[in-house]
Amino acid sequence: HRLDRAGRAGGRTVIDPREAGIALRLAGVRGVLAVSSGKGGVGKSTCAVAGSLLLARRGLAVGLLDLDFQGASCHTLLGCRPGFPAEDRGLVPLEPVPGLQFATIASFIGERPAAMRGSALAEAMREMLAVTRWGTLDVLVVDMPPGIHDTTLELARVAPAARHLVIATGSRIALAVAARLLRHLGEAGAPMAGLAQNMARAGAPADAGVSALAEREGVPFLGMLPFDDSLEAATGDPERLLSTSFAVSLERVLLRAMGLGSPLSR
Ligand code: ADP
Ligand code: MG
Repeated sequence: HRLDRAGRAGGRTVIDPREAGIALRLAGVRGVLAVSSGKGGVGKSTCAVAGSLLLARRGLAVGLLDLDFQGASCHTLLGCRPGFPAEDRGLVPLEPVPGLQFATIASFIGERPAAMRGSALAEAMREMLAVTRWGTLDVLVVDMPPGIHDTTLELARVAPAARHLVIATGSRIALAVAARLLRHLGEAGAPMAGLAQNMARAGAPADAGVSALAEREGVPFLGMLPFDDSLEAATGDPERLLSTSFAVSLERVLLRAMGLGSPLSR
């Protein structure tokens, strides 16, 4: 969304001047897909990284933004040591794999711990969005942190059109946390791409937990991603990541999330 004459972006009055900058930086981005879950350890980063690689392989112009400042993992999954970005009318995203534009806090702090209060987190996030020059992208994939806090609330403010791909596992713990996130996103009016089940065990009942939760919360169920033992060895190796059975299922889930794939018959 661009600024209108009254200095409003997306219908809101801009208070922080960076918001105007963020709106301009995102003006060439056709869609934002936030990979969210509420809970940690359910596979958000794995889905965000493998997903961006899959979409880039299909020829889309893809950006990947790691917004999990405390648990930044995208660079580990990609197998790169992010250097400081080049400067050219802003910070130019890294390109660890051809066709994939990438920005991460690891460019600035390396592997040092990003111990920050929520307000600092929101500031750092604004700063990154205000300086990163994405250019024209078909999709910007955002790897979200666990929790429902500053990053979630801030993303809704600066990128209200961002659609959420929510990842859950079939465990009752993950389901309870995912239910809260879905409730929050629903109440906040955040656009929803849908809910996917990760780490699905072969032979487990297909219609258990996650798809039932999707039904209850009125969000699309996008499918299952198998538990895949080869993912650990594929960490840090994009080629290998894409050759896993997990990636094959993820591509189907992603295409549905982006409204490009065949709908799931339940
Ligand atoms: P999150 O970003 O939600 O915290 P990660 O993507 O970091 O989760 O994944 C946590 C761990 O689970 C990683 O070690 C990852 O390799 C593993 N993992 C994720 N998805 C699967 C899967 N489908 N099968 C097996 N292991 C998985
Ligand atoms: Mg993560």
